[in-house]
Amino acid sequence: MKTIRDFDLNNKKVIIRVDFNVPMKDGIILDDNRIRSSLKTIKYAIDNNAKVILMSHLGRIKTSEDKVNNSLKEVSVRLSELLNKDVLFIPETRGKLLENTINNMNPKDVVLIENTRYEDLNDKAESSNNETLGKYWASLGDIFINDAFATSHRSHASNVGISKYLPSGIGFLIEKELKALDLNNAKRPLTIILGGSKVSDKIGLINNLALKADNILIGGGMAYTFIKASGIDVGSSLLDKENIAFAKEMLEKYKDKIVLPIDSVNRDSNGLIRTCFINEIRSDETGLDIGIQTIKLFKNYLLDSKTIIWNGPVGMFEESPFDNGTKELCNILKNIDAVKIAGGGDTASAVINLGYKNVFTHISTGGGASLELLEGKKLPGVIYEKENN
Ligand code: ADP
Ligand code: MG
Repeated sequence: MKTIRDFDLNNKKVIIRVDFNVPMKDGIILDDNRIRSSLKTIKYAIDNNAKVILMSHLGRIKTSEDKVNNSLKEVSVRLSELLNKDVLFIPETRGKLLENTINNMNPKDVVLIENTRYEDLNDKAESSNNETLGKYWASLGDIFINDAFATSHRSHASNVGISKYLPSGIGFLIEKELKALDLNNAKRPLTIILGGSKVSDKIGLINNLALKADNILIGGGMAYTFIKASGIDVGSSLLDKENIAFAKEMLEKYKDKIVLPIDSVNRDSNGLIRTCFINEIRSDETGLDIGIQTIKLFKNYLLDSKTIIWNGPVGMFEESPFDNGTKELCNILKNIDAVKIAGGGDTASAVINLGYKNVFTHISTGGGASLELLEGKKLPGVIYEKENN
C-alpha cells in the first residue's frame, strides 16, 4: 500500500478524493470537521508543488432537485478560508470547462470539482462504479490519492474506479485511521460499546466483533431488539423485528460476552419520562436511554478494559435527559487509562458536542468504514495491489 509520501508530486496533476460530505442546512455548513480532516493531505500536495484536483461527494443525489442543496460550492469557499488560498470551484463533473481548467493549472493551484454524485443521475454512474466514468476522471490527472476514509468501504467510481487507471495511494487521514483501528495488537481486555439506531445495519457485525472482543456492551436503540430476543417486552421501543431470531442466536452463542441494559429511561405517549427495570417497560413507553443501574454495570466492565471501542450513542443524546447515559459513559472513560476509540457520524458528534473530545485516543471520521476495519475486513478504497503502483 502506497501513501502520498511515496510519489513525486512536483508539477503533477494530483487528484485527491477527499470526504467533504459535511452536514449542511439551507446552504450553510453546520460542521466543517471533515474539511479540516483533509487539510493535512491537501497542504502536503500544495507544498510539494502539485496541481491539486479535489473531488468529493455530498449527500445523495436521486433527482435533479437534489442537486440544488448538494453543491460543493459553499465547501470551496470554506476550504479557501481554511487554506488561506484561492480554491477554484468547477461547477461540473465532466466536460470542456473542467478539462480546460485543469489543463491550464499551475503548480500549487487548487481546484474543487462539483459533487461526484451528480453523476448518479446518469444511471448511478458514480455509486455503481461505472467503468467509463472512473476512466474518464482518471484521464484528468497523473496521480490519484484517496483520502476519503468514510467512503472507503464503498466501491465508487471516484475512489475505486479512478484508482484502476492511475498510480494510486492513500492520504494522511486514511493512513491515520488504518493505524488507529487496527485491532491486531490491541491490549486486552477489549470492550466494545455498541449503540445507536441503525440496528439492521449493525446487528450483523456482532458476529464478527464478538470474535475480537472480550465484552460487548449493548445500549441505545440497538439494545431493545436484544432485550426482546431474551423474552422481555420492550413496549414501543425501537425494534428490528426481522432480526429478533438472529439476536437470540447471538445471545446464546456469546452469552459470556454480550452485556445488556438492566434498566431503561422511557417516555410514554403523554410525554412522561420514567426510569424502570428492563422488564417493566409499559406498552406505550419508548426506551430512549440506559438507566443508572446499567451505567454502573457497564462501568465495571470498562474499568477493567485496556482497549475500548465505542460505536453508537447509548441514548437519544440529541435530547436531554436522554443524553445522560452517553455523557456518564464519557465521564467514566475520562478516568480510565486505556486506548479509547469512538467511531460513527453520530457518535463522533455526540462525544465532541457534549464536550468530551479529549477523552478519546482517536475519534474516527468514518462510521461504516471504521466498523468494517474493526471487523478485520479490507476496504476496497484502501487496497491498491495493482502492478502499475
Ligand atoms: P452512528 O452515526 O454513530 O453510527 P447511529 O446512526 O447508528 O450512530 O445512531 C445514532 C442515533 O441513534 C442518534 O440519532 C440517537 O438519537 C439514536 N438513538 C440512540 N439511542 C436510541 C434509542 N434508545 N431509541 C431511538 N434512537 C436512539
Ligand atoms: Mg448515524
